[in-house]
Amino acid sequence: MSELSLAYIFHHNQLLVDSNLQLPQVEKLVDDLPLQVGDQIIARDLRDLEAIPSGYQLMPIRQLISQWSTNQFEQASRAVQLLEWRRNHKFCSHCGHATQIHATEYAMVCPDCAYHQYPRVQPCVITIITRGKDEILLAKNAKTNTNMYGLIAGFVDVAETLEEAVQRETLEEVGLQVKNIQYLSSQPWPFPSNLMLAFRAEYESGDIVLQEEEISDAQFFKFDQLPEIPFSGSIAHRMIQHVIHQHSMSD
Ligand SMILES: [Zn+2]
Repeated sequence: MSELSLAYIFHHNQLLVDSNLQLPQVEKLVDDLPLQVGDQIIARDLRDLEAIPSGYQLMPIRQLISQWSTNQFEQASRAVQLLEWRRNHKFCSHCGHATQIHATEYAMVCPDCAYHQYPRVQPCVITIITRGKDEILLAKNAKTNTNMYGLIAGFVDVAETLEEAVQRETLEEVGLQVKNIQYLSSQPWPFPSNLMLAFRAEYESGDIVLQEEEISDAQFFKFDQLPEIPFSGSIAHRMIQHVIHQHSMSD
């Protein structure tokens, strides 16, 4: 008798779900090498020519963020990141031999030189900058066509502290100096495998000078006159709510 498992089945950045956004149950095939992401929960890619079962649809993962609980989203994030990592580590980065999937750990192992490759996350700082008691800095990304204003964010460099990354990104993107940098919270963000580290900082000095390839506009907005902000479920949304309404960052 074949065993049934709940399955995260991905097709690029889309996931197979039913009309209630629940996962399908599928047979666990041995030659499939599915990725085990929990007890009786597997993850794999949609196979070539695999039919989409009736009542199911492919939905962009980003759209599920605001519909699902944090736990569901984190499990889906883990699944999509581990599959992506496995796809990108088919060969040993040390000697070039084809790798094998480790039986019990999340690792790709080289049978020739025994080098183990583990999944990595990319630390990324995101900062909410306040000025006075009732203003926050919001910036519009130059690479999108929307009217949405977000927060200053960027990857942490090699040999840089998180606080230095906050200061450098703020200076590079909008030309401002900040002070009193405080850690708020974090969120895994699977596009493709970032760990978003949220900080709060206060404006110290400088006039806004845009890094034009990255930012098309940036302004300090009064709390009661905000433009369109990032969607509910994103860490940027929670950070803005936290600062304006003193909502907790922990849930
Ligand atoms: Zn090797």
